Amino acid sequence: MSTAPVERRLRELLTTGVDGGSFGPGVKLPTERELVELLQAPRSAIRRALAALERDELIVRHVGRGTFVAEGATGTRLRVPADTSPAEIMQVRMVLEPQIAQLAARAARQADLDHVQHCLRRGGAATDHAGFEAWDAELHRAIAKAAHNALLLNLFDTMNAARDLPVWGSLKKRSFSPGRRCAYHQDHTAIVDALHDRDPEAAAAAMIAHLRNVTDNLLGRHPVAMPVQEPPGPAPDGPHLG
Ligand SMILES: [Zn+2]
Repeated sequence: MSTAPVERRLRELLTTGVDGGSFGPGVKLPTERELVELLQAPRSAIRRALAALERDELIVRHVGRGTFVAEGATGTRLRVPADTSPAEIMQVRMVLEPQIAQLAARAARQADLDHVQHCLRRGGAATDHAGFEAWDAELHRAIAKAAHNALLLNLFDTMNAARDLPVWGSLKKRSFSPGRRCAYHQDHTAIVDALHDRDPEAAAAAMIAHLRNVTDNLLGRHPVAMPVQEPPGPAPDGPHLG
């Protein structure tokens, strides 16, 4: 059996355990030998799967003591496939976030709008990549919370957990510049203005425009799944992730 299915099953085992309360941060995992029995897979495949989960910082291994669930390993994080690509993340964002913005424009309470405004202001004042990125993530989540749909927020959090994948961080850092930060801040301002105006269509349109800019900057093209029809143009020449 190749590593990928074993890794997926190990991930499922952890997710089920974390959700069910039998696993959690700091809890010891079964030994390699027990995992061989449990997953009916060769020891070499178990080792590669454990190494992959360790790289993703979902588990920690202490020599002589065993393997433990890492502090940051929530059920949400575990549900994100490790090989999720930035293009896939952007496709899911494009599916979820314009609708979320639309709902938030209708459902947001004053306290939600205040928090969204606070995130916008802090993001605009951030002077470095890490600061802007943190307030950007918080702004998008604040908008998702303002939609007042717990199931949708759950889906958003699962999608958002993919932002912690190593590939995403390095890609964002490489594509980051003061000019882009300024452009993103303008995008964000348009979204927040539409929320304040209680204008669902404008909120969705501003979110679509923002996600297109992010996608273009990250991948140099639009994602395949777009909710709005593009005018015919030259065929995309594939992702250039560098
Ligand atoms: Zn943003």
